[in-house]
Order: sequence, then C-alpha cells, then structure tokens
Amino acid sequence: MSEWSNWSGSVRFTPAAVVVPENEEELARIIRRAGDEKQTVRVSGAGHSSTPLVQTPDILVSMKNFNGFVARDGATIAIRGGTMLTEANEIFLEHGLALENLGDVDLQALAGAIGTGTHGTGRNLRTMSNHLVGGRLVNGKGEIVDFSIKDDPDFTLAARVALGTLGIFTELRLKLVPAFHLHRKEWCTHIEDCMVNLDKLIASNRNFDFYWYPRSDEAKLRTLNIPGTGPKDIPYAWCQKERTGWSGDVIPRSRGNKFDEIEYWLPIENGPPCFEEIRQRIKDVHRKDVGWRVLYRTVAADEAMLSGAYGRASATISMHHNASLPHDAFFRDIEPYLTKYGGRPHWGKKHYQTATNLKQLYPRWDHFQGIRRSMDPEGVFMNAYLRTIFEEG
Ligand SMILES: Cc1cc2nc3c(=O)[nH]c(=O)nc-3n(C[C@H](O)[C@H](O)[C@H](O)COP(=O)(O)OP(=O)(O)OC[C@H]3O[C@@H](n4cnc5c(N)ncnc54)[C@H](O)[C@@H]3O)c2cc1C
Repeated sequence: MSEWSNWSGSVRFTPAAVVVPENEEELARIIRRAGDEKQTVRVSGAGHSSTPLVQTPDILVSMKNFNGFVARDGATIAIRGGTMLTEANEIFLEHGLALENLGDVDLQALAGAIGTGTHGTGRNLRTMSNHLVGGRLVNGKGEIVDFSIKDDPDFTLAARVALGTLGIFTELRLKLVPAFHLHRKEWCTHIEDCMVNLDKLIASNRNFDFYWYPRSDEAKLRTLNIPGTGPKDIPYAWCQKERTGWSGDVIPRSRGNKFDEIEYWLPIENGPPCFEEIRQRIKDVHRKDVGWRVLYRTVAADEAMLSGAYGRASATISMHHNASLPHDAFFRDIEPYLTKYGGRPHWGKKHYQTATNLKQLYPRWDHFQGIRRSMDPEGVFMNAYLRTIFEEG
C-alpha cells in the first residue's frame, strides 16, 4: 500500500487498505466489518489538515465516488459527501446560490472543510460549517443516519464540526445565500497604522483581514465588499491590486509555497492584545529564523458544539512557517500566548492540546461526546490522535 501524505507533508502514514466505496450500502458494510475486526476507519477529504485527523493503520476511505449534485429545495442544496469545494461552488452558482464566505483556498473537500470548522474572515460572517442543515452519514455501527436541523437540532449542531467522528457523510444539505459579487482590494501599510485603525477596518468592511510580515513590519490588508459599498480609500495605505467577481472566484487566493500553520480562535476583544504580545515575541526571539506572515481574521459567533467560534465572536491569529523548515519550536513557543487569552485551536492546524485542556474550552463538550459515543460506541473512527483530544488520562 502506498504512503499517504497531507498537503504540507508533515503527516505521513501507510494504511493497510484504501477503500473506494461505490455507494452507501458498500460503505456501511466496510464499517461494520471493520468494527467486527476491531479496525480503525478514517476518511480523507483533500488532506489539507495538518493534524493527523485522517491517519489510520487500517482502513482509509476515499469518497471520490460520492460526487456532485443531488437535489435542491429553495435555498438548500443537497450535494454528495465527497464533492470538492471548487466543484460545489460551481454547482451552487449554477443554481444562483453561494456560501456566504470562504477561507483562503477552495481546494478542500466540502465535507473536510466543514468537518474542522473552516472559516474565512468577516465580523458578521460565520464558519462554512454553519450552512449545514442536514445530511446523511454512515455511523460507526454501519447504520445510515438521515438528519436535519428541523428534526434533530442538537445532532446537527454536533455534526457541523465533528472531525469525522460521528460518521462518514454521504450527503450534505447546505442552506445557501443568493450568489453575489465582491470587490476585492489588497493594500499595503505599516503595522502600527493597521493596529491603531483595526476596529474601524473590521467594522467598515464586509471581509477584512491582514497579514503582518515580521521582518519588514509591513501589513498587507485585504478588504472585500459588495461593489459600491465599503471605504473607497484608506488614507494611510496604498492599494496594490483590485478585482471584482463572483464571491467564489475572488475570496480564495492561490497558495504556491507549502507551509505548516498554527491558528487559534480568541474572544474578539482579546485579539489585539494577544497579537501585540505575539508580535513582540516574534521580533525578540523568532524573526531571525521565521520571516513568514502572521494572519489576523475575525469570525461571527455560532452554535456548533465544537466550533472555535462557539458562543463568541472571534479573532483568529495564525502563524505560518515554511513546510521544509522545522516549525515545532516556533509553534510551541507561541502557543501559550494564544491559550493565555482563552484561545481555542483550529482543529485542522497544528496545536499541542489534549482532552483535559480542550474540554474546558467548549461549553457543550460533554454533550458532543455523548452524541459521538452513541454514533460510534466501539470507537471505529477513533485513531490514536483523536483519542488524545477526546479521551482523558
Ligand atoms: C493552503 C491551505 C489553506 C487553508 N486555509 C484555511 C482557511 O482560510 N480557513 C480555515 O479555517 N482553514 C484553512 N485551512 C485548513 C483546512 O480548511 C482544513 O484543515 C480542512 O479540514 C481541510 O479539508 P480537507 O478536505 O483537506 O479535509 P481533510 O484534511 O482531508 O480532513 C479533515 C477532516 O474532515 C473529515 N472528513 C473528510 N471527508 C469527510 C466525510 N465525507 N465525512 C465525514 N468526515 C470527513 C476527515 O476525516 C478529517 O477529520 C487551510 C489549509 C491549507 C493547507
């Protein structure tokens, strides 16, 4: 069997088997057999997570046969559970619909992006997971479960960010918004000017984020607004690029160089002081070795049980480092600055937390665990890494 690698190359393993089921019944049989034989089953999306979420010594499921449009009901589209995000965006647009926000790239699988609470930026915009209003999955007992927010709100709030631990999605139902254009602008300024004006920049743009570059102290600002809205000028910054188009075309950016990343969600009011402490620490200790950017974004509060933004509007701060260079010492040194301000780690990015700490961070942690155990009582979906984040001791 050949080696599996994630996008950055920092997670590698060789499963005993890669299975590519044709339909739900075959997937259910695979899971039941694995349960009988005490094997671990994991499912991969596009492998863009840098935590070992999909690692398994036994069975890795590829959902490439579960692809494309299923049905439409008003603004809700049902799509098959292995559909890639780029393709999903095209399908939504054909129906005059769109996700209200996207992250930095559109290369993930839709179920993978939803599974870790993938987010973009925007004070009033929630994570992609919040579009999920129902779906179908095969749980750890090999049962096919059809759920909806109307009939089972709690289950849906658990399923929105579940790291593939409740089951394997064969269908996702997403409530979307009418398709829309955005005007994207990229600006350059000094970080001090950005920080002095941060609240205004966040409040006056639909989407706003910035990158800080440790070696130059420059900040690259990105603003996206519905054409004809948003500030025309930022007096202390100069516009380097601009573009208008469908949201799905202008929000994602291309990513050439491979990197590893640590990202935390903080209560929004803790974002600026936390960023300033990290900035000082990087300047004092890491700037010689780390020239990579630090990204600052905002996300609206939501109710998904394991969402980083559960119950609180959030600022997110992420540190990047070249995938070919060691990142561990850098990320481990910065993480305490993030946890000190009440941060929750992004599930798809590097972090060093275990169940004992994590359970303190999510008010509905125990509720989620109850649902997880009911869906997968024998732990068919639990790999060694997931046990460290979900099981204490
Ligand atoms: C270049 C790059 C840019 C990124 N930009 C952002 C960003 O802007 N914002 C952000 O929040 N994150 C970002 N991320 C992180 C990324 O969005 C998440 O790690 C996401 O989960 C990756 O999706 P994937 O399809 O690659 O899933 P994988 O990494 O393959 O899997 C993620 C999880 O989803 C589960 N899963 C996959 N398919 C299914 C299924 N059918 N049913 C049930 N579970 C399933 C897997 O088991 C796993 O637990 C970025 C990552 C990279 C490498």
